[in-house]
Amino acid sequence: MSRELAACTQLSDVFRCLGQWAMPALGDWCDLDVLRDGVLQRAAAFRAPHGAIHGPSGGPPSRLAQRVALMGRAELLRGPDEQVAVALSSEAGDLSRLQGIGLLDCLAVPLLLGGQLVGVLSFATREPALRQDEDTLSLAEDLSGCVAFALETDRLRQALERSHHAELRAETLERELQCQAADFKTLLDVIPVGIAITHDRDCRHIRQNPWFARMHEVPLDANISLSVPEGERQPIRYLDTHGHALRPEELPMQRAATTGEAVLDVELDLEAQGQRRGTIVVSAVPLLDEGHHSRGCIATILDVTARKRAMEAQRFLAESSAVLSSSLDPEQTSRTMARLCVPALASLAVFYGRRSDGTLGVLSVAHEDDSLQPIAVEVSRHFPIPEGHPLREAMMTGRPRLIPVLADEPSWFKSRDEGLHRLRQRLAVRSVMLIPLTTAHGVVGVLALGTHARTYSEDDFTFAKEYAAHATYAMENARLYREAREAVALRDEFLGIAGHELRTPLTALQLGLQRLARQSATAGDAAELSKWVATCQRQGSRLSRLVGDLLDVGRITSGRLPMVVEEMDLSVLVEEVAARMGPELEKAGCALVLKLESPLTGSWDRSRLDQVLTNLVSNAMKYGQGRPIEVSTEATAEGVRVRVRDEGIGISSGDLSRIFERFERAVPERHYGGLGLGLWISKQIVTWLGGHIRVESEQGRGSCFTVELPRRVEG
Ligand code: ADP
Repeated sequence: MSRELAACTQLSDVFRCLGQWAMPALGDWCDLDVLRDGVLQRAAAFRAPHGAIHGPSGGPPSRLAQRVALMGRAELLRGPDEQVAVALSSEAGDLSRLQGIGLLDCLAVPLLLGGQLVGVLSFATREPALRQDEDTLSLAEDLSGCVAFALETDRLRQALERSHHAELRAETLERELQCQAADFKTLLDVIPVGIAITHDRDCRHIRQNPWFARMHEVPLDANISLSVPEGERQPIRYLDTHGHALRPEELPMQRAATTGEAVLDVELDLEAQGQRRGTIVVSAVPLLDEGHHSRGCIATILDVTARKRAMEAQRFLAESSAVLSSSLDPEQTSRTMARLCVPALASLAVFYGRRSDGTLGVLSVAHEDDSLQPIAVEVSRHFPIPEGHPLREAMMTGRPRLIPVLADEPSWFKSRDEGLHRLRQRLAVRSVMLIPLTTAHGVVGVLALGTHARTYSEDDFTFAKEYAAHATYAMENARLYREAREAVALRDEFLGIAGHELRTPLTALQLGLQRLARQSATAGDAAELSKWVATCQRQGSRLSRLVGDLLDVGRITSGRLPMVVEEMDLSVLVEEVAARMGPELEKAGCALVLKLESPLTGSWDRSRLDQVLTNLVSNAMKYGQGRPIEVSTEATAEGVRVRVRDEGIGISSGDLSRIFERFERAVPERHYGGLGLGLWISKQIVTWLGGHIRVESEQGRGSCFTVELPRRVEG
């Protein structure tokens, strides 16, 4: 049995061995109690004929076992008597049951290992044949050493198993921790938030995640602490909302780490490598030790540049719209538009567009640096710009352009003028945006924005386009307002002239009629009478021409000028007009010379062509200073040509294009009457007939009006 016990490695083996070998010899009851954590506990029990019960369900240790464990000495109780039942009972109150069983003897031996108690082995008997005595006890004592040893083996095995489990668990834990650390690192690597951590209260060494390093434009392993001596510092500055650079001790991380209190949502401007990187919002929370003292801090940094810029852009657009709309003068608005762009959008803003005389050129220039403004003006004086130049392209196509790096755009620098080149270099424009201002009438100008400080981005481009849209709206408003004002002024002027014009023949008519009345009352001289009748007729037809012109304006603008086309001879018409106007021409002292090619037929509206000829001849007469007038007709390759030439006052070159416009006149009203409608109406009629009218003239040297017509009206 000793041999077998020595080979046991588990408690169940020990007990199986006891049940098999010791039972018949030492008793028919057996309890094995083991000391665990200083408490004696039932490990197994054997009850013949029932067999073995393992574990605590075998019942609590008996009083005898407790006593033996306490005294460290073996005990034998021989019965049968009350003592044996009491000894085998436990505190749990199972005495009465034991009393009924009829137990004879019992014994218990301490299980000692190296003098230390490891358990108690107890035996009892009910079989008279198995009665116990001193020999049985000493046998049990002999056995106890082996059992103690087997128990110890089992304990060691269990401890070994436990430590093995602990090792496995530790390994699993380590693996889990490694995974978590890797996940955490990935998170820090990809999160679009700057994270920095320091483990010292002075923030002398700060570690950061990639986003943080990128925002600061430093390598990932750089120490961005501002607490280190000046020479070792990264070229980084944090500016408050007033633009003041923060001292190291004013920084949120420093404050959180030294005070032990969180510093939240501090808005700062970040400057790295001498350049503004944008706006950040910093929050720093302290790291506390067990005693709640600060041992460093952790900070998050959010890049709010885009959000801030969007807000500023909105504010800028709202404010600039208000400023732009405050003036209703287009020139003033164009100047304001360029001025508002600096410095928010550009260091140099040039507005290139159509001047009031229709030519292209620079309308306004603004530079952020007052001292460079004269140079900017000088450079822009060298516009207009050659063909193929991006600015001209933008004007022609209406397409906005972003030129991030101006040096990459060779067509910009076409001019070979050295002086101009030097001036340009002083402005040092690095990046350019060209934004055409487009209205319903087409492109009215191009806003050229340049900066020396940075490279324009797509965001800047979008913003500039939005600004230009606002500016266009304001400019268009100003232009329409001016046009409306001019139209009203023109109308008032016209009403004055028309009143005056109508009154002159009316007065003459009235005067003629009075004379007529007087003559007829006195039945005077017939020749005198017919002279006054002729005057009245002349003034009457002048009145009817004026009223006719006025009615034609309305008809032409509403497209209701009736035209009746018929086959006719132009030279014959000229002769008719000449004959009709003979008396007037004679009165004006103008000799009329006709050089007519005949016949000169075509399909035209006779009465409208009559109107054109009458108008040209009466102008030649009115402005002809009593000199001869020549009217010629001839056939041309395309159709026919009529010329009306006079030697009168002539027209200055500046007025030549204007006189064909409605109500436009190039003579002082006091000297020459007229509504300024004749040429306009003539041009409308000639255009309608598919031809054109032009004038060659020189002031003081007469004028020549030429009308060219196709033989018939197309379509
Ligand atoms: P009106 O003669 O009634 O003013 P028109 O439309 O016929 O209007 O002419 C417009 C202007 O053109 C005139 O006011 C005048 O200044 C100029 N003009 C027209 N014809 C002549 C001419 N033959 N010689 C000089 N100026 C002329």
